[in-house]
This record gives sequence, structure tokens and C-alpha cells, in this order.
Amino acid sequence: MTRKFIEDRLLVATHNQGKLEEIADLLKDYNVTVVGAADMGLPEPVEDGATFVENARIKAHAAAKATGLPALSDDSGLEIDALNGAPGVYTADWAETGSGRDFVMAMEKAHKAVLKTGATQPWTARFCCTLVLAWPDGHDEVFPGTMEGQVIWPMRGSQGHGYDPVFQPDGYDLTFGEMDRWEKNKISHRADAFRKLVAGCFD
Ligand code: IMP
Repeated sequence: MTRKFIEDRLLVATHNQGKLEEIADLLKDYNVTVVGAADMGLPEPVEDGATFVENARIKAHAAAKATGLPALSDDSGLEIDALNGAPGVYTADWAETGSGRDFVMAMEKAHKAVLKTGATQPWTARFCCTLVLAWPDGHDEVFPGTMEGQVIWPMRGSQGHGYDPVFQPDGYDLTFGEMDRWEKNKISHRADAFRKLVAGCFD
């Protein structure tokens, strides 16, 4: 049985203001006050898990334990089949330069790595997002979301963030980078995971 969320405050285990606002908006009809990790002065835990679920669990449990509040975290990334699922949990790391993140460089790196394998197109891939809702007593609920598609080259579009310009979701001629935010947010891996979270714990 999935545990229902019956508390009135939810800690969102992220220091990213954009993610916090997006989550608060998604939960606006459920009578819950959403609090951010930075508001509670929480440090960012080391994400050293081997999977999205492990990393999301690390973040959610650390936040729930530190605050005594139920905590929600997400971990996401891009899996490219020709690279056996890489960059996967290292999706953000591929963009690290030592002085900030460079996603154009990361997309070029991914493209070069795929070419090196000799894989023929379509270069199938998926965006993944795993949400974990953890309670201070150690219980958690896990909600994985995905969006299947392919990596394309050259990159197209300047909207969105991260690897959006090289990802074309199945059933669309546009990349995530060419879609408006509203359209992407309806079909994305994050939307998929959120629908499952809301159905499981909030409805
Ligand atoms: P996280 O913040 O540790 O979950 O890092 C996930 C990384 O995956 C981000 O830095 C982005 O590069 C990438 N990513 C996740 N979701 C998306 C998306 O919707 N579009 C583009 N890139 C994404």
C-alpha cells in the first residue's frame, strides 16, 4: 500500500529555485506548504549513488532526517542506449568545467561518444526522472518517470535547459529545445513521475 501524504508541510530537497517553484505549482491544489532545502539551511549531500533511485533516496532521507519533515527529492538524467545508458547519473557531471557547467560542451561530448561506437541512427535514448518522497521514520515511496526518444545532431532549439537541444521525444519532430516550456512540461519524464506521485500519495 502506498503511504498517503497527510502532513501540511513538505520539504523539497533541492537548492534549485526553479525546481522548487515548479513543484510548488504542481502541488498547489493539495493544501500543502512547500519549503525549500536552502530555506532550512540544509547542506547539499554527496550524490554518490549508482542509480537515479539511489541518488534521490540519499537526498530525500538526508533532508527528512535533518528536519523531521517529509521530504521530496528528484534525480534525473539522460540515458543513451549506444553508450549503455551513459551519461545516466553523471548527466550533470559531463557538463562540469571546473568553473561552472557547459551543456554545449556536454552535448558535443555525448555526440562524439556515440559516433565512436559506430552506432547507426536512430540513437535511441530516454530522459529519466525519479522522485522519492521520504518520511522522517525512514519510510519512502519511489516514482520513476521516463520520456523515450532519440539523440539527434546537430543540436536544435534554444529553449529549456541541459541537454534539451539534442533530445527529440518519440512522436514529435521537435527537440525539447524547440518546444515551448508548457508543451514540454506536459510530456516530460518529470511530468510522468509527478503524475505517479500525485496519484499515489496526494489524490
Ligand atoms: P540532477 O539535478 O542531479 O537531477 O541533474 C540532472 C541533469 O540531467 C541536469 O543537470 C540536466 O543536465 C539533465 N536533465 C534532466 N532533466 C532534463 C531535461 O528535462 N532537459 C534537459 N536536461 C535534463
